[in-house]
Amino acid sequence: MIDSVARVQDPRAAIVGASQALDARGLMPNKSGNVSCRSAAGFLITPSGVPYGELTPGQMIALPLPATDEPAGPRPSSEWRMHAAIYSARPDVQAIVHTHSPRATALACAGRGIPAFHYMIALAGGDIRCMPYATFGSDELANHAVRGLEGRRATLLSNHGVVAVGKSLQRAQAVAIEVENLAGQYLDLLSAGLEPVLLSDSEMRVVNEKFADYGRISEILGSDLSK
Ligand code: 13P
Ligand code: ZN
Repeated sequence: MIDSVARVQDPRAAIVGASQALDARGLMPNKSGNVSCRSAAGFLITPSGVPYGELTPGQMIALPLPATDEPAGPRPSSEWRMHAAIYSARPDVQAIVHTHSPRATALACAGRGIPAFHYMIALAGGDIRCMPYATFGSDELANHAVRGLEGRRATLLSNHGVVAVGKSLQRAQAVAIEVENLAGQYLDLLSAGLEPVLLSDSEMRVVNEKFADYGRISEILGSDLSK
């Protein structure tokens, strides 16, 4: 239902809508993060540093794939290399959401990934890795993000934030929201001094299979994790 709305929507307007929705939830503090989706020729991405409340569809910037040079004119997100590298490595990915969502970013600042302590981590494809630090906007960061996403729909970037991907903007957005939720639960456990009980790989395989046939979750999960 929500996806069918997104399908008929102009992709530029859909990026603005997703960015503003994530900002309203507190996942993009101080105009952090960026959002993109594939287009016929490459991908469309948010401009660099424009507050989400001021974004208009016409400000979305089109880049080709492969993207090697920053286009002239209004600046695309400083993370355009990361978005381009993910689209090139993952044909199943149609949209990317990068956030500095507070709880997940707190874990990333300790270099901690999120283990399979709750079955909803299946939304990310399994335990969420935390990749090493690299400067924002760099090719090195782009490579870390691609590796962190291998077989996954989300990864953490040390001392930085989160990358979530999906078969649509709606799905990437849902993964980013769930990553923040899981990070909050995991931090609560850690701050209470409790040791989480982890789910086994075989149980996670069962959950993944059940999710494939489980209403709205299967819609969100649509991306192919064979890579
Ligand atoms: P941009 O405003 O350039 O997209 O930068 C935000 C960000 O999160 C950089 O990592
Ligand atoms: Zn960032």
